[in-house]
Amino acid sequence: MTERIVLLPGDGIGPEVTEQARLVLVAAGKQAGLEFEFEQELIGGVSIDQHGTPLRDEVIEICRGSRAILLGAVGGPKWDEMPVDVRPEKGLLAIRKALGLYANLRPAAVLPALVNASALRPEIVEGVDLLVVRELTGGIYFGEPRGREGEPPGPNGTRGTRRAVNAMVYEEYEIERITRVAFEQARLRRNHVTHVHKANVLEVSQLWVEVVDEVAKHYPDVELVHQLVDSCAMLLVQEPRRFDVIVTGNLFGDILSDEAAMITGSLGMLPSASLATGGFGLFEPVHGSAPDIAGKDVANPLAAIQSVAMLLETTFGSAGAEGVGAKAAAAAVRKAVGDVLDAGHRSADLLLPGESRETVGCKRMGELVLEALERG
Ligand code: NAD
Repeated sequence: MTERIVLLPGDGIGPEVTEQARLVLVAAGKQAGLEFEFEQELIGGVSIDQHGTPLRDEVIEICRGSRAILLGAVGGPKWDEMPVDVRPEKGLLAIRKALGLYANLRPAAVLPALVNASALRPEIVEGVDLLVVRELTGGIYFGEPRGREGEPPGPNGTRGTRRAVNAMVYEEYEIERITRVAFEQARLRRNHVTHVHKANVLEVSQLWVEVVDEVAKHYPDVELVHQLVDSCAMLLVQEPRRFDVIVTGNLFGDILSDEAAMITGSLGMLPSASLATGGFGLFEPVHGSAPDIAGKDVANPLAAIQSVAMLLETTFGSAGAEGVGAKAAAAAVRKAVGDVLDAGHRSADLLLPGESRETVGCKRMGELVLEALERG
């Protein structure tokens, strides 16, 4: 059977890295007995240019009819002055909402070849391999009431009366479903979940602790630790190896996933997945559209390629022979990336300060991964 994948390359370096990722998906899929059919659509600035909106309803419908979405990146200076509701980034928010992509998975792994790329000491970051599972569609970014009111200080020295409100709101079902994702992911990894909260101050966090504990009863094989968000932020830089899966709400997850990403030190290496119920998902590199290097064939495609590994194992890696093959293919993609780096190949963004060695471009990096995949 042919599996339909929607490609949304987007803006800037998006098309360059997505094309390399697509080629790797085809090759790795073949190893797993999977055949793909691709449908390419517009999102972000290119969609604004052509259709006046960052995401058309037709594109959402096409995505609904697919097995998974591979996205590049959106945005760029060309669209920075546009009204907020027609900015490229609106396309991303709209697709998450329309497709119910509530679980954001952000792995941060330090590959042996890049252990010196981190701003932290190698002995701290060596072997770090963690996954932040962030709730993406609830919490303070969406809670009601929200808004601003009041007046700024007057010219005659009268005091301002401005006030702003955002509410952190979580329903039980939202906490339960993201917690299940985290425990399922832990079972694929090292069977450890850290729930990050602020239950000493926030009633919302107290509810999270209760619900996470209830879900945990169904996963006796997975160890659970509750951790305050402030101490988690410290432990992430002090002892990042202690973490396997971190599960948390939208706000804490937003901040901690970026902190965890920086432990690895290389934006061009970080993949992500945003999942809906049933495992349907959108897979994309964490980085943006990098307008400063777009069209120059110097972008690092490895974050997009590692997103393909996540796609293979998440979309096709469930039970059955197909699942076993897809998981093996995901592992093969990750091994191929590691092999290419171990052999000393680097894109320009991976050079350490003061390091001088020949670098490879986006296309060549993709070819090297394909060759390594072929060798096994
Ligand atoms: P960025 O991630 O695009 O770039 C930050 C820096 O990292 C730049 O110097 C860039 O050249 C470099 N970089 C990023 N990805 C790289 C790669 N794969 N290979 C080599 N170098 C890479 O972030 P920014 O500059 O803050 O944002 C640029 C645009 O991207 C903005 O319009 C922003 O809104 C958008 N953006 C989009 C997403 C997304 O689509 N998910 C995420 C972040 C930013």
